[in-house]
Amino acid sequence: MADRMAFFTTPRRPRERRAPQERLGDWNEVYREGALLPVVSTQAGRCMDCGLPFCHHACPLGNVIPDWNTLVAHRDWGAAASRLLATNNFPEFTGRLCPAPCESACVLAIDGEAVTIKNVELAIADRAWEDGYDRPQPPERMTGLRVAVVGSGPAGLAAAQQLTRAGHTTTVYERADRIGGLLRYGIPPFRLEKHRLDRRIGQMAAEGTRFRTRVAVGRDVSADDLRARHDAMVVAIGATACRDLPVAGRRLPGVYQAITYLTLANRVDEGDCPASPVSAEGRSVVIVGGGDTAADCLGTALRQRATAVTQFDINPRPPDRRAPGQPWPVHPKVYRVTTSHEEAGGSAAEPRVFAAVTVGFEAGADGRLAAVRFAEARPGDRSPRPGTERTVPAELALLALGFNGPGRRSGLARQLGLAADRQGRLVRDEGFAARADGVFVAGDAGRGQSLIVWAIAEGRAVAAAVDGYLRGATDLPAPIAPSDGPLTV
Ligand SMILES: Cc1cc2nc3c(=O)[nH]c(=O)nc-3n(C[C@H](O)[C@H](O)[C@H](O)COP(=O)(O)OP(=O)(O)OC[C@H]3O[C@@H](n4cnc5c(N)ncnc54)[C@H](O)[C@@H]3O)c2cc1C
Ligand code: SF4
Repeated sequence: MADRMAFFTTPRRPRERRAPQERLGDWNEVYREGALLPVVSTQAGRCMDCGLPFCHHACPLGNVIPDWNTLVAHRDWGAAASRLLATNNFPEFTGRLCPAPCESACVLAIDGEAVTIKNVELAIADRAWEDGYDRPQPPERMTGLRVAVVGSGPAGLAAAQQLTRAGHTTTVYERADRIGGLLRYGIPPFRLEKHRLDRRIGQMAAEGTRFRTRVAVGRDVSADDLRARHDAMVVAIGATACRDLPVAGRRLPGVYQAITYLTLANRVDEGDCPASPVSAEGRSVVIVGGGDTAADCLGTALRQRATAVTQFDINPRPPDRRAPGQPWPVHPKVYRVTTSHEEAGGSAAEPRVFAAVTVGFEAGADGRLAAVRFAEARPGDRSPRPGTERTVPAELALLALGFNGPGRRSGLARQLGLAADRQGRLVRDEGFAARADGVFVAGDAGRGQSLIVWAIAEGRAVAAAVDGYLRGATDLPAPIAPSDGPLTV
C-alpha cells in the first residue's frame, strides 16, 4: 500500500465519461480519452490489501486484485500487466464491459465506496498494449494434436488462445462473417470499439490460432466430420435462441428481436451498409426488457435519432441501496442508471416503465406497428392487473427478453448427439465433457445466458479439460467448474 490511510482519506473517483450530448453525436466509446491514467494510481492506493480479499473470490477468473492494485499504486505497470494477464486473456473487454461483481464484494463497499477495481483493470490492460507487455505468446513446441473450437465469442476465443499457447493446432470455426460473437455483433461500438477486438484477434493469429468464418458447423460442414478431423472439439456456440413474446400482433411489421436490431447497427459501424434497414430514426420506439440488451437498444435508438423511446421492465423498480435480502458481498439488484439511461436524461427523464407487462401490439391503417398495449404487472405471477391497460405509440418495438441456450434445433447438437436441458443449455459433466467422446461444451451454450467474465473463465477452464483429455495431464489453469455460480447468500 502506498498510503495506509488512503481508503479513508481519498474519495472514490470513477472514470470520467464524455457529456451525454457529445456521446449521442458519435458511436465512439462513452469514456473520455486519457482521463483514467492521471487518477488511477491514487484510486488503486485506496485498496486495503485485505487478508481475505472478497473481491478476488467474487471474480470468476480469480483475478488477483489486491496484488495489481498495489502494483498500480506504485506505478509498476509491467508487473501489474503480468499479474493481470496471468488470469484474464481479455482484460480490455472485461475492463470495459464487466458489471464488476468484484466491486460489490469489495470490503470497502460494506459501509462505503468500493475501490474502482474495473478502472484499475482497464488502465493496466490498455497500458499493457501500449507498452508492449501484452504481446503474442506462440508455443515453444507443437504437440501435433488438433482442436476445433466452434464459436468465436469470448468463451471460444479464450479456449482457443489457451490451447494454442499450449501447443495444440487450434482452429476456430464461426458461422458469422466476422470473429467475436456477441462482442462483435451484440454489444454496440459505444461500449466496445471493434478495433480492440480486431487487435486481440490479430494477436491470436500471430500466435498460431487459425480462424475460419462463414462456417456454420452442423449445416455447412457436418459436426461429425469436423470432430473426426480433430483430436478434440470445443462447442462454444453461445445462447442465441431469443425468448419470444407470444402476444397479439407479435408478427406485425415493426416488431423485431433486439439482437436483429443491434446486429444491423453494428454492421453499419463495420461499414457493411450505409444505414440500417431497421433504424429508429424518426420513429417512436418501445423496448421490451430490462437488461443489458435493452440498455444497448436504448443507446442505439438515441444515436439513430428516435423521436421517443419507452422501455418496459416487467420487474418493479429496484431499491436505490442493497435490500436486506441481498447483503454484502453479493452483487445486488439495485436501481442503476446505465450510460444509455444517462443519455436519455437520467432518472429525471426516466424512459423505463417498471412493473409493466406488454399485452399486445396494434397495427395502424398501413398494417404496420402503430402502438404497444401494456398493463401494470401484478407482483408474483406478473400477470396484467385488470383495468390498468394503456397504449403507447410505437413504430418500432424491440424484444430484449433474454436467451434460451443454443436452441433445441441446433444441427450441431443433433449430429453429435448432444443433450439439452429444460432451459435449452447443452449438457456437460463437471469436466465440461459432453456425451460424445472428445467433445466439450463451454460458455453460454452450457451455462445459459451469462457474462463475458464467466465466458472467459469457462474458456480457460475448458482448455484445461481438453488439454488433460489429450495429454493425460495438464498444467493449464481451470478457474471454475461448470456448476460454479456467482456469490449468493
Ligand atoms: C446485447 C448484449 C449486451 C451484452 N452486454 C454485456 C455486458 O455489458 N457485459 C457482460 O459481461 N456481458 C454482456 N452480455 C453477455 C455476453 O455478451 C455473453 O455472455 C457472452 O458473449 C457469451 O460468450 P460465448 O462465447 O459463450 O457466446 P457468444 O458470444 O454468443 O458467441 C457464440 C458464437 O458462436 C457462433 N455459432 C453459433 N452456432 C454456431 C455453429 N453451428 N457453427 C459456428 N459458429 C456458431 C455464433 O455465431 C457466435 O459468434 C451481453 C449480451 C448481449 C446480447
Ligand atoms: S476487497 Fe477491496 S479493499 Fe480488499 S483487497 Fe479487494 S479491492 Fe482491496
